[in-house]
Amino acid sequence: MLHIPIDRDHSLPVYKQIYEWIKNEILQGTLTSETKLPSKRTLASSMNVSQNSVLSAYNQLIAEGYLYTKERSGYFVETIQPIRPHHVEKKLDPKLLETPAKSYRYSFSHMGVDSSLFPVQSWHQCAQKAISEDQTLLSEINHPQGTYKLREIVANKIRHTRGVFCEPEQIVIGASTQWLLQLFLFVIAEHEPFAIEEPGYHRLSSLLKTLGHDVYHVPVDTHGLNVEKLRETPATVAIVTPSHQMPTGSIMPVSRRTELLYWSYEKEERYVIEDDYDSEFKYEGDIIPSLQSLDVNGKVIYIDSFSKSLLPDLRMSYMVLPLGLIDVFKEKGLHFMQTTSVLTQLTLARFLDSGEYDKHIKRMSKYYKEMRAKVIEAIQERFGTRVRVEGEKAGLHFLLHLDTEEPVEPIMERADKMDIELYSIQRFMHGQVGSAPPTLIIGFAKLKPEEIYEAVEALYQCCFPE
Ligand SMILES: *Cc1c(COP(=O)(O)O)cnc(C)c1O
Repeated sequence: MLHIPIDRDHSLPVYKQIYEWIKNEILQGTLTSETKLPSKRTLASSMNVSQNSVLSAYNQLIAEGYLYTKERSGYFVETIQPIRPHHVEKKLDPKLLETPAKSYRYSFSHMGVDSSLFPVQSWHQCAQKAISEDQTLLSEINHPQGTYKLREIVANKIRHTRGVFCEPEQIVIGASTQWLLQLFLFVIAEHEPFAIEEPGYHRLSSLLKTLGHDVYHVPVDTHGLNVEKLRETPATVAIVTPSHQMPTGSIMPVSRRTELLYWSYEKEERYVIEDDYDSEFKYEGDIIPSLQSLDVNGKVIYIDSFSKSLLPDLRMSYMVLPLGLIDVFKEKGLHFMQTTSVLTQLTLARFLDSGEYDKHIKRMSKYYKEMRAKVIEAIQERFGTRVRVEGEKAGLHFLLHLDTEEPVEPIMERADKMDIELYSIQRFMHGQVGSAPPTLIIGFAKLKPEEIYEAVEALYQCCFPE
């Protein structure tokens, strides 16, 4: 007879308790295959429960394949291999528990923007229109390259703002720069060695290494990636940030641009990926056209993102493939489903098309220009000759070189203790920086205008504690 313990105060109904008990005995191998179970009447009376409870438990066990019935002879255990646990982790290691993201008193991050300046209302209106007027598009499976309507509008926008001439067929929408790079790797550059700027956007370099690519870190100078040094590597694809080098802030002059393009023209397998992440914001002189706009041989893959111009959490970026790569992409790349939400794509399409985006960029450029000036002024006032600013002519961050004997680590530790989000150039370096004086990345998009003076004072205390 089975001795099934029943707890009548338990929240699980009686039949469930019977079911769970028998199921576990079978899975652990204590009730072996072909064992005959007691009839429902016998079991019910021995346990002092209703026959219905036993019947429900048996029926569920039959439905899941634990038991079977033989006509007129009763219920039997199926042949099931017992599953026994190995000696594996049964509980999450407390070290791996996630803690809420730290909230900072002041943030000099180069990645975020101030979300309170996002035009929530006009975005909402565009979303509402998209829901009511683009319904058929919302219920279909999205094209792997993204909604055609958005690609058309983006193609039109970058022709005017970045000098990028392309057809919507060349555009691939995706949820992040990293994802688009992965798509490019899977489909086009599966085994190619890459060159990355040093210092540079370290996330891309770790991604490439994780995917098994050789990565060469090529130094940048005041004109951007050093092409002579690039030539010393076997890299076939170079990733660059010519509009505003990440992190040094330098803008690549046309001489270096043509030198880089010339490098890519020498061999068929060579390509340049242009990461144009914060090109909307340029403070002195006109916006500089993209590297892609100079390319006459289809060697530049242009990637841009709405993370800096709108919000990082929209997760909306896009890539423009050269014409010569479209057929390879159509052959292999279309197996990858679209990663962004169609509603966000359609909302963005309307936001761009209605002129709201241009209005927002205009407002933000003016705002960032003022913020940049105020932050630099506050820094110069407080730090005097102990700092030098670099790379401030565009984008949402600049470099701050400190005149101090101290290494950078204690500065970062003090920032952490004071709840200040602060990064140094080390974060963007692969190699050792040696004994170079500390250099900080000062992002100003997340600071509030009214806190500039306090934030700069706190920054000074991190760098030169009294
Ligand atoms: C912010 C940023 C991007 C944008 O990345 P997403 O993943 O598209 O948000 C790309 N490159 C650099 C260097 C950046 O700073």
